[in-house]
Amino acid sequence: MSERIQLEARYCAQNYHPLPVVLTRAEGVYVWDENGKKYLDMMSAYSAVSHGHGHERLVRLVRDQVGRLNIVSRAFYTDKLGPFLEKVCTLTGQDMALPMNTGAEAVETAIKAARKWAYTVKGVDHDQAEIIACKGNFHGRTTTIVAMSDEPQYKEGFGPFPPGFVLVEYGNIDALADAINENTAAFLVEPIQGEGGIIVPPEGYLKAAERLCRDNNVLLIADEIQTGLGRTGRLLACEHDDVQPDGLILGKALGGGILPVSMFLAKSEVMGVFGPGDHGSTFGGNPLAAAVGLEALNILVEEQLAERSAEMGDYLMNRLGDIDTPLIGDIRGKGLFIGIEIDPGLATAREVCERLMERGLLSKETHETVVRLAPPLIINREQIDWAVTQIREVLAEIDEVRLAS
Ligand SMILES: *Cc1c(COP(=O)(O)O)cnc(C)c1O
Repeated sequence: MSERIQLEARYCAQNYHPLPVVLTRAEGVYVWDENGKKYLDMMSAYSAVSHGHGHERLVRLVRDQVGRLNIVSRAFYTDKLGPFLEKVCTLTGQDMALPMNTGAEAVETAIKAARKWAYTVKGVDHDQAEIIACKGNFHGRTTTIVAMSDEPQYKEGFGPFPPGFVLVEYGNIDALADAINENTAAFLVEPIQGEGGIIVPPEGYLKAAERLCRDNNVLLIADEIQTGLGRTGRLLACEHDDVQPDGLILGKALGGGILPVSMFLAKSEVMGVFGPGDHGSTFGGNPLAAAVGLEALNILVEEQLAERSAEMGDYLMNRLGDIDTPLIGDIRGKGLFIGIEIDPGLATAREVCERLMERGLLSKETHETVVRLAPPLIINREQIDWAVTQIREVLAEIDEVRLAS
């Protein structure tokens, strides 16, 4: 085994189970390992690298900005934050934004905003606010956020957890209707569940949820950290259903694959609950992150990455559909956000990912049974064709071994 793997395994907490490959360089849709072997990245850091690795414009901008102004904290105004937030609010139809760094921090921000809105605007009694989330959700890893999770491993050993969360079945509008009461502050939902296994809810679910929330004075908060910024073929996945959430959470690709940049966006009525000292982050909204975030958005629009995602996603989905194998149970997703469900009786998703890695294609399993395909949105047809060939051959290989034994 590589010495670098041993070193990392010796000193790094074992909270991940990485594939045994040591990456040293990347460009566009490709990454290279320590031996110079090239891989097609079909994972793009859980969709953080939608722009492709080391996008030329972002690298140039970072070089320039790093020499100018980086971290000053929000104790002062800067020339970078205003233009960035103006752009992201304009693109998403939201009024105001609160910049953070990681996705989990932005989700925490959304929770705080929803609760304070419930007390100060809606009139919910002190400490009684409830937030409804969905079974199978993934919103991050803080102790408060895992309190909303129904994944035993995310929680086991980390309690006690804060109260105030209610879980309903994802995709079931009646379950949501039943869970709403006078104390409900918000419904927090992923338009497509990412870590849950690329789960696409039934047609019309999000729209019906929006209506239900409006009728009951409940905030609809969309966690688009993974689905947002072009990943599903629209700028926001909510747009597929013509839904305008009251609160929106962005992260991952917002940093252009270079830096952690996240934010909570909302209507003024919601964001207005925050006063000086209510919430904050030392690094949130720093000039370097703001400059990168603005350029990442400009690139997204100018290179039409959402449209590309729709077109290439359809192409990839069709090509995958042509693969004739008993190993695939289901293929689902939108745009370049696709999950291949492997029949657990016949193979594991991990085994598929390991074999793909040997052939120079990097992906990662989620929930043991799903192979995630979420390449940089700049991927082209030729690269997709190559990937599909690898996937078809790997599945045929596994099937052969299975039939021989
Ligand atoms: C990744 C993710 C998060 C958490 O983001 P981090 O940057 O890892 O904290 C939250 N919600 C969704 C939907 C995600 O995919």
